[in-house]
Amino acid sequence: MSDAADLLARIRDVPDWPKPGIVFKDITPLLADHATFASAVEALTAPHRGAGIETVAGIEARGFVLGAPVALALGAGFVPVRKKGKLPGKTVETSYDLEYGSATLEVTSDAFVEGARVLVVDDVLATGGTAVATVDLVRRCGGVVVGVSVLMELGFLDGRTALRAVGIEPHALLTV
Ligand code: AMP
Repeated sequence: MSDAADLLARIRDVPDWPKPGIVFKDITPLLADHATFASAVEALTAPHRGAGIETVAGIEARGFVLGAPVALALGAGFVPVRKKGKLPGKTVETSYDLEYGSATLEVTSDAFVEGARVLVVDDVLATGGTAVATVDLVRRCGGVVVGVSVLMELGFLDGRTALRAVGIEPHALLTV
């Protein structure tokens, strides 16, 4: 199997979860297999080697699992972008709509050095609301978003267009 086919084979579709009409893309089978997990991390990392990434911002929660090893592989630090109420101290927050419901994300206000080159990592790009909100948070905290990388893009929800509107061309390992 190609790397992409192997990744796809280990992302499980869960119909009607967490709501009727949503097909949830469950990446836990991919994470549970060392070879596939390692190849996903490498594929997320490779395009950004030599790009001077100083910080990876991972989006709660699956963006933590993927973003932290990408940060280590790039020689970068890691910053968690969390759901509201989880981070201590002074935070910056933004609210947005997502494929199912709405949410508020927060980041520690001093998480990014002014001008730091930041890569945003998450598992799935759907409508793009979460990624756009994260780009906004990073920029408001002084970071420069160099890229947004995801395992899987749900093309029919057109998150790519939402990210293009804020000047980012996302990188997706798989598009369905
Ligand atoms: P969105 O803001 O619509 O792009 O949604 C992306 C965020 O919601 C990511 O953090 C994903 O983890 C999660 N998400 C949205 N839709 C799905 C889906 N169908 N399967 C798995 N995760 C999803």
